[in-house]
Amino acid sequence: MNMNRVRVLLLNAALGPLDYRVPDGMQVEPGSIVMAPLGPRKLPGVVWEAESFPVEEIDPKKLRPLLEVRDVPPLRAPLRRLIEWTAAYYFASPASVLRMVLSSGAAFADNRPISEYRLNGSVPDRLTPQRKQALEKLIGVQGTISELANKAGVSIAVIRGLEKLGVFDREDVSPFATSAKPLPDFDTVDLSEDQQRVSNILIEAVRASEFKPFLLDGVTGSGKTEVYFEAVAEALRQDKQVLVLLPEIALTEPFLDRFHARFGAEPLAWHSGMKQSERKKNWRALAEGNAKVIVGARSALFLPYAKLGLIIVDEAHETSFKQEDGVRYHARDVAVMRGLYEKIPVILASATPAIESRHQVEQGNYELLELPARFGGATMPDIEALDLTEDVPPRGSWLAPTLVNALEENLERGEQSLLFLNRRGFAPLTLCRTCGHRIDCPNCTAWMVEHRLTRRLACHHCGHVMPIPEKCPECGDEDSLVACGPGVERICDEVKMLFPQARTAIVTSDTIWSPQKAADFVHQMEAGAIDIVVGTQLVTKGYHFPNLTLVGVVDADIGLEGGDLRAAERSFQQIAQVAGRAGRAEKPGRVYVQTRMPNAPVIQALIKNDREGFYAAEIESRRQALAPPFARWAAIIVSSEDNKEAMETARLIGQTAPKLDGFSVYGPAPAPLAMLRGRHRHRLLVHALRSVDLQNIMREWLEQLEWPRAVRVGVDVDPYSFV
Ligand code: ADP
Ligand code: ZN
Repeated sequence: MNMNRVRVLLLNAALGPLDYRVPDGMQVEPGSIVMAPLGPRKLPGVVWEAESFPVEEIDPKKLRPLLEVRDVPPLRAPLRRLIEWTAAYYFASPASVLRMVLSSGAAFADNRPISEYRLNGSVPDRLTPQRKQALEKLIGVQGTISELANKAGVSIAVIRGLEKLGVFDREDVSPFATSAKPLPDFDTVDLSEDQQRVSNILIEAVRASEFKPFLLDGVTGSGKTEVYFEAVAEALRQDKQVLVLLPEIALTEPFLDRFHARFGAEPLAWHSGMKQSERKKNWRALAEGNAKVIVGARSALFLPYAKLGLIIVDEAHETSFKQEDGVRYHARDVAVMRGLYEKIPVILASATPAIESRHQVEQGNYELLELPARFGGATMPDIEALDLTEDVPPRGSWLAPTLVNALEENLERGEQSLLFLNRRGFAPLTLCRTCGHRIDCPNCTAWMVEHRLTRRLACHHCGHVMPIPEKCPECGDEDSLVACGPGVERICDEVKMLFPQARTAIVTSDTIWSPQKAADFVHQMEAGAIDIVVGTQLVTKGYHFPNLTLVGVVDADIGLEGGDLRAAERSFQQIAQVAGRAGRAEKPGRVYVQTRMPNAPVIQALIKNDREGFYAAEIESRRQALAPPFARWAAIIVSSEDNKEAMETARLIGQTAPKLDGFSVYGPAPAPLAMLRGRHRHRLLVHALRSVDLQNIMREWLEQLEWPRAVRVGVDVDPYSFV
C-alpha cells in the first residue's frame, strides 16, 4: 500500500473498512479522523493500519479521495489496539466500538460555538398551553433549542416560536473552555499506617508507567478512596490524565464534591445526561489533554485520552459495569485491557471483590492490596438475621416487629435509618381476586409493576406503561384487582403508617434519575432532613452518612431466587455493601436482615462476618462445576418477532455446533424472558475450557451460517445476565 492510499474504518456498523485516496496536500496518519465519501453521502471515519483489516485491494484508479481531515488529535495506537481487541473479544463490529470512542459526533463537531438559550423573564401576550408549559418548565434551564424542547416536553417548533418572540437570551458557548486544574496537594490528609503502605505502592506504580493491575480490597469505610486519591495526586504531578469509572451516574455528584475538597477543583464528569455543548467541550478537553481527571460511567472508558496515566474502577464488583445492549462488554475487564495497551496501572477498588478479580489475584495476574480495618476506629456493624417465620410481620405488612422497634429507637435518638429492598415501584404483581388474572406486559414475558407515585403500571424490561385499570381486563369485575408483594413505595407507606412523624425518602432510579437529584438527596441526608430512607441497590453504593446507624434488609431472599451463577455472590455483595452504610463514623451501626432462610450459607457468612469463608466456599463450588472463572461461557441469544424463525435459527445453530474437546454447547431453549419488546427469544450456552480459543471457534462456526434477515443473533461473552 503506498502513501497516498489509506484504509479507513467508517462509522457505520454495516460496512467493513474501505480504501481511499489521500488528495495532494492532505496529511493523514493512522488514527486521523476524516470525512470520506460513500455514494452520495459523507461519512466520518478513522484512518487505520491496513494490516489490521485485510480486505481485497481495488484498482487505485477507482479510489475516491478523502474529503477532509478533522482538526482533532488522531486516535493513538493503544486505543486503536483496544478497539480491535474489544471488537474481536466481544463479537462486535469495530465500527460499533469506534462509535463509543467518537461519542455521538462530538469528534466531528466543528469548532464553532454552540448557541444556548435561557429565559430572560419576558412573557409574550398570547400564550398557548404549550408555550405556557415551556415557560414553566424552563425556569433556570439553559440549552440548545432541541435540549430545551426536550426538557419542556414540547416540540422544537414551539421553542423556535418562543425564541422569535424574544423570551430567551442567547449565549454562545465555546468548545474550548477548560476548567480549573486539580491541585495534587490542595488538601491532603494524614494517612494511617496501613493506608500509607498501600498508597506508597500505588504511587510507585504511577511513577513507573507500566501496566500493573491492582485489586484494592478494603472493608467499607477503610479509606480506599482516600488512598487512591494519593495515586491520582501522583499522576497529576506527572502531568498525566486519570480516568475514574463509577458504576452509576447517581454516584458522580457526591464524588465530585469530595474530589473538589481534596484537589481544589472538580474533575470533568462524563455521563449520558450531558448537554450537547458539554459533550463537545468535554470530548475536546480530554482528547487534547486539558482535562486532567475524568469521572464517568462505563461509557467514559473508550474516550480518546491524550495522556492517560492511571485508571481506577471504583466499586469494581458492580454488575452495572457490564453493558447489556449494543457492544456487550464488561468495563472492568476492558479497563484492564486498556491499562495493558496504554502501559499504565489499573486499580480495581472494592469492599466485596468479584470472584473473577480474586481469582486473578490467585493466578498472580493482579496484585492484592488490603485495607483491613475501618478508618479512625469505626467498627464494622453487627449483622443480625431476623427469621421471618418466627419474627412475623403483622398481616399485610412486611417489617418484622424487631426491625420496627429498632426503627423507633433510632428515630427517638435522632439517628438515620435505611431500609433496603431491591424492587422499584409499589408492588411487583397485580392480580384479579375474582378470576386470578395477572396483568402482564403485552411485549414481554413479565408482570406489569405498579407505581403508585405515578399511578401507572410499568414494565421494567421494555418501559411499556399503562394506567392502573379499574376493572379486571379479563373478567371485567370491578374493584377486584389487588397488589401483591412489596416494592419500595409500599415499604415507605408502611413506614409512614407506623411513624407518621418520620421524614422519609424513596431512593430508586425513578426518583434519583440525574446527578442533580442525587446531590439533592445527599445534601438532605447530610442536613438531617431525612429520618428513614427506603431504597433499591442505588443506596448500597459509595455513600457516607455519619448519622446513619441502622440498616434493615427487607428481603434477603429475593437475590437468591433466580439461582444463576452469581446469585449467592451478588446477594452477599449487596447485603455487605448496604450493611456498610451503617455506623461509618463514631456511632456504631446495627444491621437487621429479614429472611426465611437464616441458615443459607450467604446469610450465615454475613452474620458471622466470615467473608473469607464465604469466598472460599463459593470459589470451590465454581471450581468443581468448571464454571467461570475456571472455564469460560458465552451465551448466544436468538430473537425475532416471528417465533418460528427464531426457533429454527436457534436449532440450526445448535445442530451445527462444532464438536471439539473442551468445547460444549447447551440448548437451544426458550429464554426465561421468552419475549422481550415483542421479540421471541431463544438461548444457547457455550462452555469452553480456558485452553480453547473460544472466539475463533465461534466465529468460524457462526460465520458460515445464514438466517432470515429479521432474526437477530447476539453473542454475549462472559455473560452476567441469564434471562
Ligand atoms: P472507602 O472508600 O473504603 O469506603 P473512604 O475513603 O470513603 O472509604 O473513607 C471513609 C471515611 O473515612 C471518609 O469520610 C474519609 O474521608 C475518612 N477517612 C479515611 N481515611 C482517612 C484519613 N487518613 N484521614 C481522614 N479521614 C479519613
Ligand atoms: Zn415489557
